Amino acid sequence: MARYVYDFAQGGRDMAGLLGGKGSNLAEMTRLGLPVPPGFVITTEACRAFLATGGEPEGMLREVSEHLSTVEVAAGRRLGQRDDPLLLSVRSGARFSMPGMMETILDIGLNDDSVLGLAKVSGSERFAWDSYRRLIQMFGSTVMGVDPALFERSIALLKDLRGAPDDVHLDAADLAQLVETYKNIIHLETGDHFPQSPAEQLRRAVLAVFQSWNGERARLYRRREHIPDDLGTAVTVQCMVFGNLGPDSGSGVAFTRDPATGRPGLYGDYLPNAQGEDVVAGIRNTVPLAELERLDPHSYARLCEHMRTLERHYRDLCDIEFTIERGRLWMLQTRVGKRTAEAAFAIAAELADEGLITPDESLARVSGEGLARLMFPRFDAAATGDPLAHGLPASPGAAVGAAVFDSAEAVRRAAVGENVVLVRQETTPDDLPGMIAAQAVLTSRGGKTSHAAVVARGMGKVCVCGAEELSVDIEARCFTAPDGTVVEEGTVISVDGSVGAVYPGPVPLVDSAVMRFLESGAGDAGSARAVDAVARALARADTVRRLEVRANADTPEDAARARRFGAQGIGLCRTEHMFLGERRKLVEEMILAGTDGARDRALAALLPLQREDFSGILEAMDGLPVTIRLLDPPLHEFLPDRTELAVRIAAAEARGDLPAAHDIELLSAVNRMHEENPMLGLRGVRLGLVVPGLVAMQVRAIGEAVAERTRAGGSPRAEIMVPLVGDVRELRIVREEVERVLGEVSAASGVPVSCPVGTMIELPRAALTADRIAAEAEFFSFGTNDLTQTTWGFSRDDVEAEFFSAYLDKGVFPVSPFETLDRDGVGRLVEIAVAEGRATRPDLKIGVCGEHGGDPDSVHFFHAAGLDYVSCSPFRVPVARLEAGRAALEETDVSDSR
Ligand code: PEP
Ligand code: MG
Repeated sequence: MARYVYDFAQGGRDMAGLLGGKGSNLAEMTRLGLPVPPGFVITTEACRAFLATGGEPEGMLREVSEHLSTVEVAAGRRLGQRDDPLLLSVRSGARFSMPGMMETILDIGLNDDSVLGLAKVSGSERFAWDSYRRLIQMFGSTVMGVDPALFERSIALLKDLRGAPDDVHLDAADLAQLVETYKNIIHLETGDHFPQSPAEQLRRAVLAVFQSWNGERARLYRRREHIPDDLGTAVTVQCMVFGNLGPDSGSGVAFTRDPATGRPGLYGDYLPNAQGEDVVAGIRNTVPLAELERLDPHSYARLCEHMRTLERHYRDLCDIEFTIERGRLWMLQTRVGKRTAEAAFAIAAELADEGLITPDESLARVSGEGLARLMFPRFDAAATGDPLAHGLPASPGAAVGAAVFDSAEAVRRAAVGENVVLVRQETTPDDLPGMIAAQAVLTSRGGKTSHAAVVARGMGKVCVCGAEELSVDIEARCFTAPDGTVVEEGTVISVDGSVGAVYPGPVPLVDSAVMRFLESGAGDAGSARAVDAVARALARADTVRRLEVRANADTPEDAARARRFGAQGIGLCRTEHMFLGERRKLVEEMILAGTDGARDRALAALLPLQREDFSGILEAMDGLPVTIRLLDPPLHEFLPDRTELAVRIAAAEARGDLPAAHDIELLSAVNRMHEENPMLGLRGVRLGLVVPGLVAMQVRAIGEAVAERTRAGGSPRAEIMVPLVGDVRELRIVREEVERVLGEVSAASGVPVSCPVGTMIELPRAALTADRIAAEAEFFSFGTNDLTQTTWGFSRDDVEAEFFSAYLDKGVFPVSPFETLDRDGVGRLVEIAVAEGRATRPDLKIGVCGEHGGDPDSVHFFHAAGLDYVSCSPFRVPVARLEAGRAALEETDVSDSR
C-alpha cells in the first residue's frame, strides 16, 4: 500500500519530489533541531492520485488522522478543542517553487465553540474573532467557490458604517458580526453551511489545495517556467503560530545574503504584529530586518544563529520565513533562495572563496541564461536626468515602456507589440499575465520580498517596488510623482531595477558592464564583483569543457567580435549574405544570363568581391578554422518580389507607358523560378549541381583568399561546407569540383591550397545515410534549423506564428523545438548520424551550427552526443562556453548536493 503522509521528522531535503520543496525543507529544519512548529506532509503522489480519479486515495484520510494525533500530542492540544484549540495551516508546496500560485488555508480548527476558547487563551477576543472571520473568508472562497469580492464588500461596508479607516479599527463585536454575515453569504451562495467540524474543514482544505494545482494561475506559471504539469503539489499541514498577538509578535522574511546583488550579510523585511501573509502581500510597509535587533534582541540573535546554520548546511543562499509569537521565534519555511543573475554569479564565486563549495560546484550554480541576462544593456547614466521617484531596487535591469495600470491592459498592448510597464499599488497572483506581458513592474507599496519583487526576480523582469512617493490611482489610470507630474496611462517611462529609480520618458540604454568586459577584457569598477565572478566562471568552464565553441559569422567585424568573446573558430559562414546590397545586380545578371558567356562574366565580377570577403574573415580568424558554406538559398530570393514586379508592370501599362524591358525579363524569370515550397525546392547542394560555374566561383574565391593570406604570412584554415546534402552522390560531385578548382588555384598561385570538405547534416536522409556520406566528408555540421523543419515537417516561418502558441498551451511541447533541440526526434537523428559517421571515419569532426548551438539545454545534449563543437551567434558564444563547461561537470558528476 502506498504511503501518503510523512511527519516532518520522517522527511528530508532530498525528498522534494515527494514532499514538495516546502515540506522537504521543513523536514530538514526539523532534523537540524531548529524551532519548527510540528506538522506533517501529504505527498505529491496523493495529489496525483486525487487529480487522476477525482477522489481521495484510499487510506490517505486514515494516515492523516494518525499523523494529526502525533501533532496533537506534541502540541498538547487537540484540533477543535473547545477551551484551547489547536489551529492548523494547510499549504501547497510543489517540488518547484510557485510563489502564490496555489491555495493556502489558515486557522483550520475554529468553529462557533472553539473561537470562544481561543479568545480566552489568547487573552484577545478581537484576535479570536478576526482569525475566525479570516478562516471563513478563505475557506468560503477557496474551498466552497464563493466570489471573494462578496466578503470584501461586506467588510468594506462595515468599515464605512463604523468610520474605520482599516481592519485594525474593527473591534471584537464587529468581527463577530462579520462572521455571521460571512456564514450567511456562504449559505446564500452555495446552499451549504460553513462546516463546523474541524476534521471536515481539514479534509476539504487539503482537497482544495490539491485542486489548486490545476487552477488557471498555476497552469500559466508552470507554462512560463517550464514546470511539468504532471508533478502535483504536496500539502503541508502545520500547527499555526501567530505573529499578530501584539507588539511582541511579528513576521518576517529573510535572506542569508542579498538576493539582488549577492552581497553577504543578513537581509530581509520584518512586520511587527502581523501574520506572514501580510509581509508578502505588501499591505503594510515593513521595516528592515536590522530593526528587529532593536525590537527583540533575543529573537534576532537566535534568528541570526539559525540562518548561519542553514547557510552552512545548505551551502547556499537561504531564504526563510519566520514568525515571532510573544517573543518566541518559529522558523516557518526555508529554501535555497531565488536570486538575480548578478547575485548568482557573485554568490557562487564567494562561496567558493569561503571554501563552502568547490570551483566546479561554483560553476554548476551559475547558468548561461543568467549570463545572457547580464549581457543586456542598462541605462546610460549620463542621460538619465532627474528621476520621477525612487523605490526599492527589487529586480535589476533597465526597461522602457508605456505605463499601464492593470494586467489586462498590459496584455492587450503587449499583444500588438507595445512595450509596457505595469504600474500597481501592489501585485497579486492575478496580475501574473500582466507581469509576463510587461517589460517592467513598478509598485508603490511592499518590500523587496513582496509578491511583485519575488515573481519579477524569478522571471528576470525589471522591478521597482515600494515607490511610496508615487500616488498610484488605478481608477483614474495615472500616478502622481512627488513633484506633481501626473503620468497617465500610455505615457512612456523608464524603470531602473538595479538602483530603484523611475524616469520620465525613454532613457537611452548602454551596454552592460559584463558586455564591456567581454568586448574589451576590461571591467568597470562599479560592477567589479559581478564582472569578476563572470570572468571566473568562464575561465573554469574553459578549463573543464570538452566541446569547442565556434561562432556563426559572415563578416570580419562579427568574426573579430566572436574571437573576443572566446570563439575558437567560425562554424558557419553563410555566403548568401555576401550576395546582397550592391552585389545583387551581379547576382541578377548571373541568374538572367541567357548564354554561358553572360553567366561567366557575372560570376567573374563576383569572384574578386567574394575573395575579399573571405580574405577579411580568414584574417580576423587567423590560425582558427573557418567553415565556409557554399550558397544555400533558392536563387529567386535574390530577385525582386513577384507581386511587386507584377504591380510595377501593371501600373506602367495602366498609365499607357511601356513597362521596362528589364522588369518584364525579371518577372518572367521570377515566374519560372517560383516554388510552392521554397524550403524544399532548388536550394543547397542542388544549386551547385544545376547552376553551372557557381560552385567553381565560390571555391576559387576561397582558394585564392587562402593563397593570398598564406603569402601574407597568415595561417588561414578555411573549410568548405556543402549544404542540404541528402545523398552521398551529391556530395561526391561537388567534392570533385572543389578538388579540381583548388588544384587549379594551387598551380596558378604556387601556394599549395587544400581545404577540408564537409557537409551539413540537415535532412533526415542525410542523418540516416551518414555512414555513406562520411566516406566523402571530412566533417559534419548539424544544421538543426533545417533538420528540425524537415523532421517535424514544420515550415518554421509558417508554423511559429500560426499555431505554436496553441501547441505550447496544449502541452504538445514545453518549448519550441526551434529554440531547444527536440531530443526524442531530431536528437535521435543526431545520435544516429554521429554513430554511423564515426563508424565510417573515426576521426570525423562533428559540430552543430543551427540556432541550438547557443541554447543552454541543447548544448548539454550535444556534449552528451559526443560532438566536437557547437557554433552559435557571436553574442551567445560566452553562454555556450559556460554551458559546455557545465555539461562536462554533469558527466563527471559534480552533482550539486544541495
Ligand atoms: C540550419 O539549417 O541549421 C542552418 C544552420 O542553416 P540555415 O539556418 O542557414 O538554413
Ligand atoms: Mg540550413
